[in-house]
Amino acid sequence: MRDCVIKTGTIYLIGAGPGSADLITVRGLRLLQSADVVVYDALIHPDLLAEIHPDAERVFAGKRGYCIGSTLQETINDVLVNRAREGLTVVRLKGGDPCVFGRGGEEAEYLTERAIPFEIVPGVTTALGACAAAAIPLTHRDAGQSVAFITGHFDPDSPECTLDWNALAQMSTVVVYMGLRHAAKIAARLIGAGMGADLPAAAIANATLPNQIVIDSPLGRLASAVEEAGLPAPAILVIGETVGFLRSSQTSPPRQQGLSLGAFA
Ligand code: SAH
Repeated sequence: MRDCVIKTGTIYLIGAGPGSADLITVRGLRLLQSADVVVYDALIHPDLLAEIHPDAERVFAGKRGYCIGSTLQETINDVLVNRAREGLTVVRLKGGDPCVFGRGGEEAEYLTERAIPFEIVPGVTTALGACAAAAIPLTHRDAGQSVAFITGHFDPDSPECTLDWNALAQMSTVVVYMGLRHAAKIAARLIGAGMGADLPAAAIANATLPNQIVIDSPLGRLASAVEEAGLPAPAILVIGETVGFLRSSQTSPPRQQGLSLGAFA
């Protein structure tokens, strides 16, 4: 009897984009449609999940902000590796870009250590998608030469937070992911490090979706404006001169539902 050798399947770490289903890349969508197994995060648009082949296995791996009721990273890693070793093609679908505050790098390391072939398919990260949808240019020649993406997950008063506030205050634009909970402390740190309290800023929730909400407020009042509005998660904060450039003159229509993905089938 001949030995049956199963070829290890490939794992695709795919960015789903910032919210609207039609902001996934064409490559990401094609791979999603043909996968044997799809392991997906919370916040993935239902229209994208509808693109998964009916015979494919779906595994929900939701991990929300503070890891309450979350799926352990080890369990996710095990599912990915076990299915690939069965010879299956696995898609790991993550919001935004897989490697921007998305642990894609850690999952890729885990796969490398186990010699599992993988490919990273980029996605539109929230900073890009949300700012485009809110008509905020992330950079502008009149506003400076730098932009920083930071995580606001850790309490700025805790030792876990290693952000260099002095360096950040020198940036032209700062985008804060996971920054709602500590918005007041983040703004205070930036102002303490030299940013103007009157610097334009915005908070954008449910970016690129029909229920997108944008709050414009100077940095010094951003946290209270967010609180007064009861802004829901997920949201990002954007701080910098460019926030005011187009928004002050813009009368934007409400966001439309994304294109039907069937058009790309
Ligand atoms: N990998 C993702 C980020 C994951 S961290 C990316 O590249 O975009 C999760 C954080 O992303 C949320 O706390 C929020 O700050 C931001 N986020 C994700 N989706 C969002 C959306 N539709 N609108 C606003 N912020 C969003």
